[in-house]
Amino acid sequence: MAMPPIVADTDEHRQLRASVAALVGRYGHGYFVERARRHEEPADLWCDLGSAGFLGVHLSEDYGGGGGTLADLAVIIEEASAAGCPLLMMVISPAICGTVIDRHGSPELKLRWLPGIADGSMKMAFAVTEPDAGSNTHQITTTAHRDGDGWRLRGTKYWTSGVDESDAILVVARDSEPGPDGRHPLSLFIVPTGAAGLSYQVIESALVQPEHQFTVYFDDVAVGPEALIGEAGNGLRQVFSGLNPERITAAAISNGIARYALDKAAAYATERAVWSVPIGAHQGVAHPLAEAYIGMQLARLMAARAAALFDSGQDAAEAANIAKFAAADASLRALDQSMQTHGGNGLALEYGLADLWFLARMLRTAPVSREMVLNFVAQRSLGLPPSY
Ligand SMILES: Cc1cc2nc3c(=O)[nH]c(=O)nc-3n(C[C@H](O)[C@H](O)[C@H](O)COP(=O)(O)OP(=O)(O)OC[C@H]3O[C@@H](n4cnc5c(N)ncnc54)[C@H](O)[C@@H]3O)c2cc1C
Repeated sequence: MAMPPIVADTDEHRQLRASVAALVGRYGHGYFVERARRHEEPADLWCDLGSAGFLGVHLSEDYGGGGGTLADLAVIIEEASAAGCPLLMMVISPAICGTVIDRHGSPELKLRWLPGIADGSMKMAFAVTEPDAGSNTHQITTTAHRDGDGWRLRGTKYWTSGVDESDAILVVARDSEPGPDGRHPLSLFIVPTGAAGLSYQVIESALVQPEHQFTVYFDDVAVGPEALIGEAGNGLRQVFSGLNPERITAAAISNGIARYALDKAAAYATERAVWSVPIGAHQGVAHPLAEAYIGMQLARLMAARAAALFDSGQDAAEAANIAKFAAADASLRALDQSMQTHGGNGLALEYGLADLWFLARMLRTAPVSREMVLNFVAQRSLGLPPSY
């Protein structure tokens, strides 16, 4: 189905969409699912995306990036997802870790990590969530203890994606000493996955995804001064610079899934006839699909707006949260309706829909839950009093 441009699509974005669709289309959903079922990296696709400049499109040219925008990266992620390859690691490695390092890392850190993240030869995982501090980042207890001119990290991270395929983890840790307000300031560290004292264990989940998620243990992991991103104690501000890109690119995955699902639904509803006309002629089939399409287009518009605000240096937090919320809901609805349109075949793996269910569902919970988005909008946009 030809996708009409959304308001923010520039000529460059239209060309970018066509290039990504052509590249990822050579692999397709079958390739993705085959890798995902075996929890195997889609290495060839990742390598091709890196070589084409798609993974580092938004990173600084001085460090191997394309010098483009987050909007460019969001377009790429949406197109890959719409072509049946929703790649969570694109949100984590280039969008979150790449952006944080590009904005706050020293020239040495940028030189060490950004060219590899950009060309796909390196990956970085991101660890903020903890067993006892999910939605509340202020409660994290993974602690960085000063040790000479470096640090020792102790604690446990939870649900960290893609650790086994990453070269390093961007870890959010608290300082051992509290600040003047009684809170422990946060700092960001890049910890190589092979560091002594670092171990991890798979969390078995329902997702059909190339990446595994892990519980990660930091048992007195020693890191040198070069591991610190920016200034010690400034981690909260730094990590926030990665959260809007995270939300915008997570929305791009959801929007791509919605497009993929509605494409399939439209084709099936046009071909499949069980009475005298194709099932798509029945309004009971057509209208829910049309509604799902409207929801998807609104979500895409909000994601484009959030990316444009971020790229112009304006406050993108509200738009990024709303975009993520709207896209997660819209994609789940689109996927559900597409499966319904396929009748029993919606559950058959051959039709390439059911295997996306838990990924689409997960995006209502992670990287930020819908309740925390509603809290943000209630408190920050409407000025309502917080409950916590
Ligand atoms: C597949 C997958 C991949 C992930 N990858 C990563 C990763 O790479 N790195 C990483 O750091 N994390 C990752 N996560 C973790 C994810 O970000 C968290 O699961 C998510 O932020 C929610 O945190 P939690 O699970 O601890 O839920 P909790 O914080 O325990 O919340 C449980 C429920 O209570 C609700 N709730 C909590 N507080 C409030 C409140 N104040 N008001 C209203 N409702 C509230 C939440 O919305 C949620 O519905 C991943 C998770 C999944 C499932």
